[in-house]
Amino acid sequence: MTREEFVRGYALRSGLDASWSSLGFIDLGHGRVHVALPCGCGENDCVGWAMVSAEGVLGHLELYAPEPLRTAYCDAIARDQAE
Ligand SMILES: [Zn+2]
Repeated sequence: MTREEFVRGYALRSGLDASWSSLGFIDLGHGRVHVALPCGCGENDCVGWAMVSAEGVLGHLELYAPEPLRTAYCDAIARDQAE
C-alpha cells in the first residue's frame, strides 16, 4: 500500500479532508495535522504505515518505526544527549 493510498483511506474512513494525501498528512484544521509514518509495529493488520498526531511522532519513532528508522532516530537522540 502506498503512503498516499493509506492516508486517503484513513481520511475517508474518518470523515477527514483527504486533499493532502499525496504529501502524507491530513489537515485537521486549527493548525493540527496527523502524519503518516512508516510502521514496523508487527501487528497482524499493520499495512506498514501509521497515522500519528504531531504529539505522537516522537513516541512512534522510538517504539514502532521500522528498525533502520528507529535506530537512526534513537542514535541521533543519544548523540544529542551526550553533547
Ligand atoms: Zn504498524
